[in-house]
Amino acid sequence: MSEVEASDIKADRSKMHVSDTDVAIEINSMNKWYGDFHVLKDINLKVMKGERIVIAGPSGSGKSTLIRCINRLEEHQQGEIIVDGIELTNDLKRIDEVRREVGMVFQHFNLFPHLTIMENCTLAPMWVRGIPKAEAEATAMEYLEKVKIPEQADKFPGQLSGGQQQRVAIARSLCMNPNIMLFDEPTSALDPEMIKEVLEVMVNLAETGMTMLCVTHEMGFARQVANRVIFMDQGQIIEQNDPDNFFDNPQHERTKLFLSQIL
Ligand code: ADP
Ligand code: MG
Repeated sequence: MSEVEASDIKADRSKMHVSDTDVAIEINSMNKWYGDFHVLKDINLKVMKGERIVIAGPSGSGKSTLIRCINRLEEHQQGEIIVDGIELTNDLKRIDEVRREVGMVFQHFNLFPHLTIMENCTLAPMWVRGIPKAEAEATAMEYLEKVKIPEQADKFPGQLSGGQQQRVAIARSLCMNPNIMLFDEPTSALDPEMIKEVLEVMVNLAETGMTMLCVTHEMGFARQVANRVIFMDQGQIIEQNDPDNFFDNPQHERTKLFLSQIL
């Protein structure tokens, strides 16, 4: 085969894959139980690359469980979850692959308390990805600058405020160069004055085109950043809409009740 033909095929292939690769996450008829408790019921969700989705809903509705299924911190029992083209099964290799693509930020930061901020940010890149220390440190510094705390690099998590620790947690995730970022109520453990600084970092991240799924009740953030708000109740996706319609014109009674309680 001539070089020209070979490169044509390559070009064709990349074209063929364009539609597939536009999808970041696809969930089809997914069900999950904790023992006898049916926690997620027939979940269907397609997230396109670069989309920013806010997940809202009352406590206990299954929001955390849903996003924990997406990076395989939890298993589902029925249906499909496909993340970046990788179907999540019980295959451990797949789980590893997926964790490389997906970063997660939790309510309670989950930094390693005995490691410095810099060490928190370089640990996984060095030991999971095999990146040389100097390079991992340079990348970490870049992200610490982006979250506006480069001067804290040599401190320990306990010496930082909650808002600063959460910004480190975001930087640490980004150091693994993920394609998708999951956030589970990243500001709900923070004092009001620190919420803004964390949301600002998340807004900046959204502007870079990152695919984001955020469980949050920060409605200002949702209106500013989300393409779509998904409302969950009792393990189901009850309704979804663009933020303005979601907040100003909720359809379902349960959505109206929820919004009346939080707004
Ligand atoms: P949310 O994040 O919306 O508050 P969760 O996903 O944390 O909801 O929880 C959904 C439901 O599943 C709740 O009723 C919760 O008590 C239950 N649940 C969560 N984790 C577990 C678990 N590991 N084992 C059993 N039940 C759980
Ligand atoms: Mg939760």
